[in-house]
Amino acid sequence: MKIEGGCYCGQVRYVAEGAPMVQGQCHCRECQYITGGAPHMYMLMQPDGFRYTMGAPKQFSRSDLESPVTREFCPECGTHITTRRPGLRAIILKAGTLDDPSLFDGPQMAIFTIDTQPYHHIPEGLPAYERMPPSRR
Ligand SMILES: [Zn+2]
Ligand SMILES: [Zn+2]
Repeated sequence: MKIEGGCYCGQVRYVAEGAPMVQGQCHCRECQYITGGAPHMYMLMQPDGFRYTMGAPKQFSRSDLESPVTREFCPECGTHITTRRPGLRAIILKAGTLDDPSLFDGPQMAIFTIDTQPYHHIPEGLPAYERMPPSRR
């Protein structure tokens, strides 16, 4: 599977090869800033298969946290593209940046439901975790 995508203005482009390891939705407060309020739809992709093919993202990580994630976004239009979490061997890719967002065929889990807002939707029967899911080895 070869997935292509990029930001809203087209300056930053990427290719992600390999099947998504996990697809999910994140309800955390931080993601709410970035999505506009909704849960963030993400795919975990193999780091080896992911590369930027055009442009370079700006990176941001909070300085007030001990082990912050690094978020990558287009320096021109601000589209958030990926998150890198320390210790996680995966690229957290935002489904909304896929050229064909329908390649995201639905979440397999909901995470950080501790921050769920009343207007968030969690599909019936979807595994849901207050924070991170139990680690998978
Ligand atoms: Zn852009
Ligand atoms: Zn989140």
